[in-house]
Amino acid sequence: MTDHDNRYDRQKLAFGQEGHDKVAATRVAIVGLGGTGCHVAQQLAYLGVKDIVLIDDDVVEETNLNRLVGATMQDALERRPKVEVIGRHVRAINEHVQLTMLKRNLMTTEALELLIAGPDVVFGCVDNDAARFVLNHLAAAYGKPLIDVASEIIVDRDGKLKEFGGRVIVALPGTFCLLCAGEIDLEAAKQALESPEERAYREKHGYGLGPQARSPSVVSMNGVVSSLAVGEFIALVTGLRPPERMLTYHGMRGVVTKSSDTKRPECRICNDLVGKRDAADIMRFVDRSKRSPG
Ligand SMILES: [Zn+2]
Repeated sequence: MTDHDNRYDRQKLAFGQEGHDKVAATRVAIVGLGGTGCHVAQQLAYLGVKDIVLIDDDVVEETNLNRLVGATMQDALERRPKVEVIGRHVRAINEHVQLTMLKRNLMTTEALELLIAGPDVVFGCVDNDAARFVLNHLAAAYGKPLIDVASEIIVDRDGKLKEFGGRVIVALPGTFCLLCAGEIDLEAAKQALESPEERAYREKHGYGLGPQARSPSVVSMNGVVSSLAVGEFIALVTGLRPPERMLTYHGMRGVVTKSSDTKRPECRICNDLVGKRDAADIMRFVDRSKRSPG
């Protein structure tokens, strides 16, 4: 398929034909189509990425409409799947996209197999550390760069906004990962991945983190963090510069900082799991959790 129009002229002035071709030819998956995943999908469509996989098991609700790019009130009224709504938006931007839409939780055979087989790069736009934990394993085992996006708004007990922003981590197999970055709460991940029996035991014995509260979310803040992530994707695939391992947007200070963290010498993901492929047994994560990745 050729780009039979001039839509990428301005972009080629930035990256060159070769850079543009590399972006276009990179197969990308986005896991989680909430506040950040929708921005990433939109930008990949504009960039001309030709092969995009969308994975999310959630449907659009009215409370999403302050931030879900491309979603309408009708989508919320009909509770349309986010994969369909974001997929429709992607196609409206670029009809040449080869689109694969899977309305499934990350922790299903279909989703994991799709991620293992298809994409060159995976965007993690999920809202929980269990999904991050699984993506971190999968990316290392199958040698795929993982770009993990998280945004957060912290409000104190009196409802006063204390901090807003987010961060992007570029996990490159064998060199840096989400565990090296210290960005996975292992206790939260463990609890989300436990079996129903384990969960019943834990709850009966009265320890746990409690249910997740409804968290604040604003389109502009998600947009900043998502744009940083897509910027690192471009750096990675065009070779413009090495991607930053971790960028953090501190909204209250109005700055973006980069982390000087490096691979942890004892990291078992970066040291032991890289390139193990099927021997890493990613499928053991199937059906352990029903939580939405979006
Ligand atoms: Zn690591």
